[in-house]
Amino acid sequence: MRPDPFTYHQPKSLAEASSLVAELGDGAAFYAGGTELLLLMKMQLAEYRHLVNLKNIDGLKTIGVEHDRLVIGALATHYDIAFSTAVLKHCPSLSRLCSEIANIRVRVAGTIGGNLCFAEPRADPPVLLVALDAGLRLISAHASRVIPASEFFLGPFETARKPDEILTTIEIPLGTGFASVERMKQGNYSLATAAISRSDCHQTWIGYGGGPPKQLDGTGALLDRDNGRTSDEALYAAVAEDIADLEIPSDIEAGESYRRHLIAVAVKRALVSLHETEATGVH
Ligand SMILES: Cc1cc2nc3c(=O)[nH]c(=O)nc-3n(C[C@H](O)[C@H](O)[C@H](O)COP(=O)(O)OP(=O)(O)OC[C@H]3O[C@@H](n4cnc5c(N)ncnc54)[C@H](O)[C@@H]3O)c2cc1C
Repeated sequence: MRPDPFTYHQPKSLAEASSLVAELGDGAAFYAGGTELLLLMKMQLAEYRHLVNLKNIDGLKTIGVEHDRLVIGALATHYDIAFSTAVLKHCPSLSRLCSEIANIRVRVAGTIGGNLCFAEPRADPPVLLVALDAGLRLISAHASRVIPASEFFLGPFETARKPDEILTTIEIPLGTGFASVERMKQGNYSLATAAISRSDCHQTWIGYGGGPPKQLDGTGALLDRDNGRTSDEALYAAVAEDIADLEIPSDIEAGESYRRHLIAVAVKRALVSLHETEATGVH
């Protein structure tokens, strides 16, 4: 299928891009890699008369360390992140995750910013970024703010971003401990994703395809008490209790009880990965 005709705008600055979307209203969308946007438009699931390309704006792809943060430009592709020496050094879990997402065609075109702003509930990076306490910088023509990743995702395909705000950078605090992420993949996407970070305490987050990333407080507290050496039985029980009231999807890809099981397996695997990471001393 073909998308309906649209006008393609090529702003050179953030202010110009943001003002364009503010003026054009609902019929306009920012365009990054287009891997989600064009698919939706081709399938007639979204109709945009104006696409505002962000790729000609300087500096949005830069990856580097600034003060105590690893700063990743929102227009960096999964491929850029997977092969960035700065990400490999300071955040290897993100490096590995981005090297495994989707397929090579999507990885070279799809951006981290597009992934986060689209807020597909099966996406993997949101789960790791909340566990890493990342901040997301949003800039419009008139304002700039940084919002914790944990407050950005509101629901499936819904975020705290205002329509004219551009996600410009993802900012990950450095030296705060170890982190791991594991995904239970089926087809293109994950049925369950789990990320665990450990600095002063264990933070355990999951993605389950039904809503924004969810923190498993009871599981995190158990890992703290056991210093991460929890038995499989106790871990599975804690996860089951943490997700007991969560509305887990059930569809042609997998039923609810199987997904509940996969969430626990993803958490267990993330814990094993975390131990391996801690043993090698690589953050
Ligand atoms: C076959 C396939 C397999 C996939 N598998 C996985 C997977 O395993 N795990 C996973 O996590 N993801 C997966 N994805 C999703 C993929 O990661 C995203 O498609 C990609 O990252 C989106 O980025 P993009 O630059 O193409 O976004 P676009 O399609 O350009 O934009 C997506 C949305 O975000 C908005 N937007 C984009 N950038 C910005 C910005 N900087 N500021 C404000 N708004 C913005 C756009 O307006 C649009 O609404 C898969 C996708 C495909 C097609």
